[in-house]
Amino acid sequence: MSAHEQFAEDLALYALGALEEPEKEALEQHLGVCAPCQSELQQLQSDTTLLALSTVGPVPPLRSRKRLLRAIAPEGREPLTVPKRFTWWLLAPYAVSAALVVVAAFLWNESRSLKRTVADLEQRHSEMEKQLRVSQDLVNTFTSPESKQITLAPVKALPQPQGKAYYLSSSGHLIFLANNFAPLPPNKVYELWLIPSIGSPIPAGLFQPDTRGTATLVNPPLPIGVQAKAFAITIEPTGGSPAPTSQPIMLGAAG
Ligand SMILES: [Zn+2]
Repeated sequence: MSAHEQFAEDLALYALGALEEPEKEALEQHLGVCAPCQSELQQLQSDTTLLALSTVGPVPPLRSRKRLLRAIAPEGREPLTVPKRFTWWLLAPYAVSAALVVVAAFLWNESRSLKRTVADLEQRHSEMEKQLRVSQDLVNTFTSPESKQITLAPVKALPQPQGKAYYLSSSGHLIFLANNFAPLPPNKVYELWLIPSIGSPIPAGLFQPDTRGTATLVNPPLPIGVQAKAFAITIEPTGGSPAPTSQPIMLGAAG
């Protein structure tokens, strides 16, 4: 074993600052006279520096790392697991950086999509607010205590015309009373009709309302024993018609 080989392990420990007395003093004495060992020490020290930097900086050359690890490995133990751990550890900053890039890209994408969604929701919200305001205005118009309700009616309210017929089929007697009937042109007349259960309407009298709109029919000529289904009134030419010539303006079912 040459002197250099004897100091090889001590050199590595020395480079790490871990060599203790009395080996430290012996090595320092040898370094004072041995240029190759000085050179090796410088190499190891630069390896050590690189290793320290490697946790945050560039990866040291694989060759130097292997040599250093081999140098500091305890006698008789396979240092295989150590470099594996170191390899992973040294790659960690890159893995973290890569992961951060992926996460940043994902978040940027996510943020862009969220911004779009928020813009959509804001627009929809503003539309709904507008619709709600319109609805509230409508409801307020009805429910507000200040809201006034005004009902409009014809300026000159006319009472509704009304006709009442009293009919006794067994005797064929009829009394008819008319109220609030509008006046007719001179060539027209109101005609009352008895509508039997079976058969055509039977004429039951003509009338013209007076100036107050009233008229009365008493016992117009009618056949005896006719069951009335209803009574109706049409407007006919003066003199009346044997059968209605227009649609009834009034109708009442016989009870
Ligand atoms: Zn030497």
